Amino acid sequence: MKKEIELRLLPSDAANTGKVKEIAAAQCRLPSQSIDEMVYLRRSIDARGSQPYVQLKIAIFSGESIEPEPIILKGFHTVEQRPKVLVIGAGPAGYFAALELIELGYKPIVLDRGKDVRARRRDLKAIQQLGQVHPDSNYCFGEGGAGTYSDGKLYTRSHKRGSIEKALRLLVEHGADTSILIDTHPHIGSNKLPQIVANIRATILEYGGEVHFNTRVTDVIIRDHTILGVIANDNAAIYAHAVVMATGHSARDIYELLARRGVTIEAKPFALGVRIEHPQALIDEIQYKQAHRDEYLPPSSYKLTSQVGNRGVFSFCMCPGGFDCSCGYQTRRNCSKWNVYVAEGLSIRQFRYSGCY
Ligand SMILES: Cc1cc2nc3c(=O)[nH]c(=O)nc-3n(C[C@H](O)[C@H](O)[C@H](O)COP(=O)(O)OP(=O)(O)OC[C@H]3O[C@@H](n4cnc5c(N)ncnc54)[C@H](O)[C@@H]3O)c2cc1C
Repeated sequence: MKKEIELRLLPSDAANTGKVKEIAAAQCRLPSQSIDEMVYLRRSIDARGSQPYVQLKIAIFSGESIEPEPIILKGFHTVEQRPKVLVIGAGPAGYFAALELIELGYKPIVLDRGKDVRARRRDLKAIQQLGQVHPDSNYCFGEGGAGTYSDGKLYTRSHKRGSIEKALRLLVEHGADTSILIDTHPHIGSNKLPQIVANIRATILEYGGEVHFNTRVTDVIIRDHTILGVIANDNAAIYAHAVVMATGHSARDIYELLARRGVTIEAKPFALGVRIEHPQALIDEIQYKQAHRDEYLPPSSYKLTSQVGNRGVFSFCMCPGGFDCSCGYQTRRNCSKWNVYVAEGLSIRQFRYSGCY
């Protein structure tokens, strides 16, 4: 028998698997020992009342074995001799496009202007310590793309652009913690993200794709309204079956190039963000109503949204209990960071959270 149930537990009970099993068995009117396996499907915290609760959705198996989730990478086959597709950019969009291409039976050839995720770190150090910016290897450019050295927060408001679960599972198959599959606010962690990026590159190479660094696309080869390939580093022509542009927000030269070459490009609306830091203890006190956070509760977070005219204003992402790693060394402050995306010309004062300041 397989049954999915929802439990609302005290944090200390939720942290104790034996206790969770006992409570789950009681809810299903089964003896505890008849539950063979338990799989966590969802985990969130309800801190609306004076006592915070952990809400769990779990599947229990009794007299039936768990069907293991299929491994996505097991469905991959070598694409060594398959038609080539150029992917410009080794950021998240480029690497996930490359994985998708392998799955579809195309050979991805990824070109990135920057360096691999390890070598790139040295150029970030030069920015922080010497103020020297390498034009092709910096916080925006290089393997992993713009957010590589960030926390790797994975939540999204958009649920219409493909399978989020598949993207999360691919990240797990490349080294992310399985908790990202069940947490309401999953994040990878800045200490793990670079290795996961390197593991994705290893998969691309293993299945016959190619990844080339220090290779900046400087022109596109277009004939009869069809793109045939690209020019790299001003001199090398590379032809392919198709070209995927995954060059991100910061590659102004690419936008200028596409406009110059008559490719239709469309402006996207943009959002402006600011970062706010709060002491973690303050947010915990407001959210959990506890002067000292229960040892079984994670650092608390919050989310705010507001509509001003026809514009949405919202807190974008948060690093509860995060450390500030952005200045080259970790400042050991227990702080929350907050990005408020404000519409043009509006003051963030209008969206302050009472009690937080
Ligand atoms: C500090 C920071 C923290 C962030 N934290 C998060 C977070 O926690 N969670 C989240 O979801 N998002 C986060 N983001 C946003 C996220 O990083 C971006 O949405 C994401 O990187 C966009 O992916 P992309 O692949 O489209 O573009 P990019 O990541 O910008 O990648 C584009 C790639 O193209 C390459 N490229 C550009 N031009 C050329 C060229 N001419 N030739 C060859 N290669 C080229 C670049 O070197 C780069 O590697 C963060 C961003 C920043 C800056």
